[in-house]
Amino acid sequence: MKKNVVLLRVSTDMQDFDAQKNGIDRYVKENNIVVHKTIEEKGVSGYKTKLEDREGLQELIQMALNDELNSIIVFNQDRLGRRLEILSFMTIMNEQNVKVYSVTEGILNEDNDTSELIQAIKFWTANYESKKTSLRVKNGKRATIEKNAYSGGVANFGYKVVDRKLVIDEEESEVVKFIYENYIDYGCKRTLELLEEKNILKRGEKWTKPKVFSILKNNIYRGKKQYQDELLDFPELQIISDAMFQKAQERAKSRNTRGTRRYTNRTDILFEGLLFHKCEDGLERKLNIDYVNTTAGRVHTYRCKHCKEIRAQITKNFNSAKIEPILIENIKSVMNSISIKELEQKYNEEITKSTRTIAKNIDIINKLIDKKKKAIDSAMKEIEKIFMGESNIDINIPSNMIKKIEGEIKELEEQLKVHQKELQDLGNTTSNAMYLLDRYKNFEYLFDNSTNEERKVILQDLVNKIVINKDEINIQLNIY
Ligand SMILES: [Zn+2]
Repeated sequence: MKKNVVLLRVSTDMQDFDAQKNGIDRYVKENNIVVHKTIEEKGVSGYKTKLEDREGLQELIQMALNDELNSIIVFNQDRLGRRLEILSFMTIMNEQNVKVYSVTEGILNEDNDTSELIQAIKFWTANYESKKTSLRVKNGKRATIEKNAYSGGVANFGYKVVDRKLVIDEEESEVVKFIYENYIDYGCKRTLELLEEKNILKRGEKWTKPKVFSILKNNIYRGKKQYQDELLDFPELQIISDAMFQKAQERAKSRNTRGTRRYTNRTDILFEGLLFHKCEDGLERKLNIDYVNTTAGRVHTYRCKHCKEIRAQITKNFNSAKIEPILIENIKSVMNSISIKELEQKYNEEITKSTRTIAKNIDIINKLIDKKKKAIDSAMKEIEKIFMGESNIDINIPSNMIKKIEGEIKELEEQLKVHQKELQDLGNTTSNAMYLLDRYKNFEYLFDNSTNEERKVILQDLVNKIVINKDEINIQLNIY
């Protein structure tokens, strides 16, 4: 069987080596290439060593001549060596029908008449040059982040840099834990007071609110680091648990919504902002709070302003003393009937479904991009013909086409990003739902043993919206 062989050039720059390796790994996966062998050329620079001194290339030539070689995969053509120096190498590969893949440039010898000129044109085209460079930088960065999350600069609080690697700083990580624990229980203000009481500083400086939040918001403390659209895992950097991180996010979130969109300090109005009226025209309208004086004193009601204005002949006014107990009974019964297992299963099914749909879209876009890249290759070939005097076409035609297609590719790549974000959001929504489910699994007990203020927080947390109809109450929780 003919073999597919990866050629890796080991330079003194480890970052560069990782970039090559990661790039190639992804390329062979994407193109379904089975790798049979990897040749690592150690300590050579393609620019300095002659072909006959390059053991890796000699081995490949030998394999090709023995008819054992199907393809060679390199990161880019520079890894083979300078164009003129590898000319004889490429000629042998062409004669033996060995495909030479470059991760950044595609197939280097797609047709067998690959001449020096064609290679030259590829190198002259500025676009190819710059793309290659940017891809190399990008892969390099990713390789670093995959290796140890340290990308230069001062280490995050809680960590230190040892041998260019980020590691946990025992003393500082205790402070991080202290901040999370106290923030979840007492909030930011009290946490700051406690830090001051204990004379705990942030590398010599006093802790402030923004500093505390920068700790609470950073994924690194739960052992993850955002890189572009991905959240990469660094278990060795984890200081606090996922659950604890989520709790802190929840607390920060409720702090943000309180007093702004729907949460006010009117702690007696349990369902503030959560109730909707399904009016006669079928539309859902948010119920407003109103106060009425009764013999029992001033009480609040939830009222549909719209129905009041048009004097609709349906119930448009809901006395809190009557409606709230009914709603709470309903929520209790819903929460009691929820089977965490069932819901988990339902979630998994939905996620699988959505993930599949998004993955399908991503696949379609990737195929389109491939197609467009091929179109660019054809335009490149036309340019080659023009250079060789085989074509009279105005060179602007293929070059403009390349520019246009490159613009289209860019757009498609933007779309890809959107889909990747969707995948991420899918994960976030689910983890929030699972968190709520876990938090309120003993809803009835928790609710009955809470103060009114706490009850309001629970309801605002758990309920998405409740639609009240003439004869029906539709409860939508944040866990479905
Ligand atoms: Zn109404």
